[in-house]
Order: sequence, then structure tokens, then C-alpha cells
Amino acid sequence: MIEATRNNIPIVDLHCHLDLFPDHVELVHECEQKAIRVLSVTTTPRAWPWNRDLNANSRYVRVGLGFHPEIVAERPDEIKLFERYSYEARYIGEIGIDGRPANRHSYELQRKVFERVLDICAEQGGKILTVHSASAVTPVIDSLEKHFPTSRGHVILHWFSGNLSELQRAKKLGCYFSVNPAMLRSKRGRDIVASIPQERMLTESDGPFLTVEGRPARPSDVFIALRELGTLIGKSPEEVSSIVLRNLRKLVS
Ligand SMILES: [Zn+2]
Repeated sequence: MIEATRNNIPIVDLHCHLDLFPDHVELVHECEQKAIRVLSVTTTPRAWPWNRDLNANSRYVRVGLGFHPEIVAERPDEIKLFERYSYEARYIGEIGIDGRPANRHSYELQRKVFERVLDICAEQGGKILTVHSASAVTPVIDSLEKHFPTSRGHVILHWFSGNLSELQRAKKLGCYFSVNPAMLRSKRGRDIVASIPQERMLTESDGPFLTVEGRPARPSDVFIALRELGTLIGKSPEEVSSIVLRNLRKLVS
């Protein structure tokens, strides 16, 4: 199997919005060519069918059925579409709760929809969730505890920004953590990331929302996360890549 990427290091991007890039189709093709493993998350259930069809024969790109917390208030009725498509989706995301000031007005609705999503996923079982928890880590963990028994699937907390006690709670729930370069920019961020157990560590780009060098991050930019994670935990990018790949295999097996 060819796994050629930057410096020939295998890249795993567990959270990227491929469908929000203007060159979406080319980008899917690029990930296939370079054997970059991507979880392409979506923001609305309505985006599911064409993303699913576009990637039907992908070897390295998987698609998540999403209902983004910042969009829930605009179209709460799409929960019905979410439920309908959920039977064909193994990967779920982006879902979650956003507690930042701009989204406080819809907080209760977000929580309700997120918990409904968790109930649907728990009932079906075997799904892998990528979860948003910006300024809402404690409520997200509370909802997971109440609505998503650990035996019913796997949870990846994307762009985790909680504190150490929240990290402990999430660890107890068996959560994985997908790390992007932005999380490593502050000392606080690095301290938290350094406390993530290596067997739960994954990587992400969160492109195009996250930017690197002034442009939207692409899956290949996960290399930056590998390099900086390596510096943080005293390993080479190659070693970090092996850890992430091993975790991915465990997650999907
Ligand atoms: Zn995202």
C-alpha cells in the first residue's frame, strides 16, 4: 500500500470540511492520490447525499453525517433528515454544542438536538462521532454521560479546549481527541494536549475554518500538527504518525 504524503509520513485528518472548499472534488482526489485518511465532516443533514455519493468509491476519504450546533437553530426540522440518513452513516459529525456568546441564544435547542442525535446513534450502535464542544465542554460531557453509553460507539472530541478536570471526565468516557495546530499555539493548550493519553490521540486540520500561514488548512497540513505534537511529547513526526495510525485502526476495527 502506498502511503506517500509530505516526507512520506502517513497523514490522518479526522475532522475536515472537504465540502466547504471551492475545489472540493479535486481535494478528494488529492487525498486519494496521497493516501491521506480523512473524515470529511458535514454541517447539515441536507449535505449528506451528494457527499456520500461523491465518496462512494473512496479508499481513504470517509464522510460524516453532520448537524452542526451553529446551524441547528436555522433548521431544527432537519433532525428528521438526520434520523433518516443515520441508518446509512457509520461516521457522525460535525455535531455538538457551541456555548460561545454568538450562539448562546440557541443553546437549549442545540443541547436538545445534540441529545436526540446521541439517542439515535446509541440506539443503532457502532458509530464514530466527531464532536464540537467550544465553550461547552462540561455540557457536552454531561450529555454524553446521559445519552451515549460507552459500549454504543466511539466519540472523538474535536478541538478540545476544556480544562484538566474536564479532560479527566472525557478520558473516563473513553473519548479520543483530535488535535490541530491551533490547539498547540498557547501554553495552556500545550499543557492540556500533553495530558491526553497517547492511546487516545488523533489529528485533524479542521479546514477550512482553521487557517495556516494565512490560508485555509488542508488535510496535508496535519503534518504541522504531527511535527508540533512530536516536539511537545518528545517524539519525531514519524513516531507521532505511527501512534495516530495505530489509534485510528483501533477506533475503526
Ligand atoms: Zn469543524
